[in-house]
Amino acid sequence: MSKSLTIRKGDRVKVISGKDAGKEGKVLRSAPEKQRIVVENVHMIKKHTRPSQKNPQGGIIEMEGTIHVSSVMLVCPSCSQPTRVGRRREEGVRIRTCKKCGKDIDK
Ligand SMILES: [Zn+2]
Repeated sequence: MSKSLTIRKGDRVKVISGKDAGKEGKVLRSAPEKQRIVVENVHMIKKHTRPSQKNPQGGIIEMEGTIHVSSVMLVCPSCSQPTRVGRRREEGVRIRTCKKCGKDIDK
């Protein structure tokens, strides 16, 4: 069984739970095997870094942490509403559809 997520890299999503609820951002990375994603400017965490050539002092950087896919909804590119994702098949290709406006999400 494939564990492909309904949310993919490059999608726009809205956070619906947790401390960042209400924020919107673009998906930067996804980890389907863990059902987790990284969304720009969401769930910022402080990370201690070792000194390196680029950053000789080392120190603390802020970066996005992963969040569970169930904490977000996809924002439909057609109607701009957070929506559940439907699926249809066209010539063997799975195409995601918006449950709100019915338009295809994948062009
Ligand atoms: Zn829509």
